[in-house]
Amino acid sequence: MNKTMRDRAARAIAECRLIATMSEEPGHITRRFLTPPVHAVHAHLRARMEALCMTVHTDAVGNLRGLWQPEGAGPKRLVLGSHIDTVPDAGAFDGVLGVTLALELVEIAQQQQLALPIEIIAFSEEEGVRYGVPFLGSRAVAGIFDETMLAYEDADGVRMEDTIRALGLNPAKLAEAALDANTLGFLEIHIEQGPVLEAENLQVAVVSAIVGQTRGALVFTGHANHAGTTPFALRRDALAGAAEWIVAVESLAQKTDGLVATVGKITIEPNAANVVPGAAHASLDLRHENDGIRATALKELLAEAQAIAARRSLTVEWAEQMSEPAVPMDPHLTHLLAEALEATGFPTKTMPSGAGHDAMVLAARVPTAMLFLRSPGGVSHHPDEAVREEDVEAALQVSAKFLEQIAAGCPTLAT
Ligand SMILES: [Zn+2]
Repeated sequence: MNKTMRDRAARAIAECRLIATMSEEPGHITRRFLTPPVHAVHAHLRARMEALCMTVHTDAVGNLRGLWQPEGAGPKRLVLGSHIDTVPDAGAFDGVLGVTLALELVEIAQQQQLALPIEIIAFSEEEGVRYGVPFLGSRAVAGIFDETMLAYEDADGVRMEDTIRALGLNPAKLAEAALDANTLGFLEIHIEQGPVLEAENLQVAVVSAIVGQTRGALVFTGHANHAGTTPFALRRDALAGAAEWIVAVESLAQKTDGLVATVGKITIEPNAANVVPGAAHASLDLRHENDGIRATALKELLAEAQAIAARRSLTVEWAEQMSEPAVPMDPHLTHLLAEALEATGFPTKTMPSGAGHDAMVLAARVPTAMLFLRSPGGVSHHPDEAVREEDVEAALQVSAKFLEQIAAGCPTLAT
């Protein structure tokens, strides 16, 4: 008898809990790139894939890949998956749930006899913990893996290339990991890792884009002087200027829809209780799904900093450290996913992702869509990370409907 969606949701969760026991640290969940517990996860997932009659292999960057090729179906396949590495002392669901749900979806597709080949990819690396570079797995699959990274060393001095070879893999074959033209698209199912869906009492959402991000530091320079003897009219207090600007940052973010702006770090000189601060270094992290809005916001904030500095006889300098454009998800697949939400009775919520994901990297290579499900308490990258069974069931219902729509064939995908 066919399993109910609720049974499948329960199994997908139980599998995440089981995989969580495969860890570098007993009692905690830590699984860095291709460490021994990852080999254990591979063995477990391989057995599950083979039980579903999938053809399984590990590519040259250690992504475990299983292909379900229904008899008589064409070569074009849909790719499902997420990552199986973790941050130190992680939760059980970030990434892994996208893989255990993909296994359920293959079984559903088989039972419904969908003529849709499906490849599951369990990405070997997304978090960037071991070698300081994220998305190793998806970079290879997107065909943009920079091979100079193979010489990078981890904290124990082990080169990435040797880590890969230790698993019996050949780094010379990295190019073969890239997805070919027979790819309809990629769907990643992931926990939201934030509090938005819970606050809005929603279970699932379609991701519109991975937000673009600017990071940098603003330095206000004034003049350090004696706190007891310097009159206010003669002070050039860098920290007071920075403080005024930080409030302006918050206020612009509050009145700009979708803008996230954070000053998370501030250092001052000389940092003494009885000295007027002579310099203040304030970080800025600015994010929006629309690059134009992000650029305008940055311009406004820098102009505001100049105005504050002028009023206070300070100088101000901006040093940009990073500017990454937003990555929109594929409009057609995103539309199909929104239709799947509607068809399964869920409100068609769309939201940007404030965090990076494998989907962001794959979007450069193949049409990509992403489905979020609610994170209770908005907690992630923490042992308390959790999911609700009914939300996992909702994600399954929506993605199963999405698969049906893809299998039914849509002209834009077939061309
Ligand atoms: Zn993740």
